[in-house]
Amino acid sequence: MSRVAVVTGGTRGIGEAISVALKNAGYKVAANYCGNDDRAKAFSEKTGIPVYKFDVADFDAVCAAMTKIAADLGPIEIIVNNAGITRDATMKKMGRAGWDEVVDTNLGGCFNMCKAAWDGMLERGFGRVVNIGSINGQAGQYGQVNYAAAKSGIHGFTKALSQEGASKGITVNAIAPGYIDTDMVAAVPPNVLEKIVAKIPVGRLGKASEIARGVLFLVADDAGFVTGSTMSINGGQHMY
Ligand code: NDP
Repeated sequence: MSRVAVVTGGTRGIGEAISVALKNAGYKVAANYCGNDDRAKAFSEKTGIPVYKFDVADFDAVCAAMTKIAADLGPIEIIVNNAGITRDATMKKMGRAGWDEVVDTNLGGCFNMCKAAWDGMLERGFGRVVNIGSINGQAGQYGQVNYAAAKSGIHGFTKALSQEGASKGITVNAIAPGYIDTDMVAAVPPNVLEKIVAKIPVGRLGKASEIARGVLFLVADDAGFVTGSTMSINGGQHMY
């Protein structure tokens, strides 16, 4: 039996690596995205993975899309909440919109996705949820009160929901990536990035495939005793 997995933000960056790794491991994958049609089309043509465009921050859109995915591929048993954005600014400059957008997408998206699939997971007695947090949710980061709060919230969300799923065959875990070589990190100014890399004991940025490796472990059928945990994949930058 090949289980159905939905990866939010699954068409580029870390999400792309997760989608491809899951497909290669035999899962039926649906990859979500929100705005970048060209990248999604190229991804789908290259990988053969179907793509679904919706905003994870929009509860009604999430519910409609999850119903469609289940109709297309089968009951959704695995969710990887990977979609995330940054809108960095210091507190002095951050507007309410920059706060809301990041919290609604990065944290609200986790709620929306889990809510849409939770009853089905309970009924079938199986589920795997992996939420992508961040080293900056663990340690904080200058100019990121919105992002750090949302990512830190993901870790609390994970611990709370894991308690509800534990006796029902549903595990809920988080991965906290360190700095990974994706478009998101490419947006960091080179002089800042240089200083960040200097603080990574492994001596380099991480690869998206190294996050996917962790996801594959956590979603496996025989990982049922691992729940409520946070796996830090950060090259030794922050021991939490
Ligand atoms: P990218 O910016 O490279 O890709 C983000 C993905 O999320 C894209 O597929 C994008 O879709 C999608 N997305 C953004 N907003 C929404 C939305 N509202 N609804 C649905 N999909 C959306 O990000 P990364 O691969 O770098 O990051 C992936 C995750 O890992 C994020 O949660 C990020 O916070 C986290 N992370 C990343 C780190 C890094 O160093 N890169 C470090 C720590 C955590 P589209 O293509 O349509 O824009």
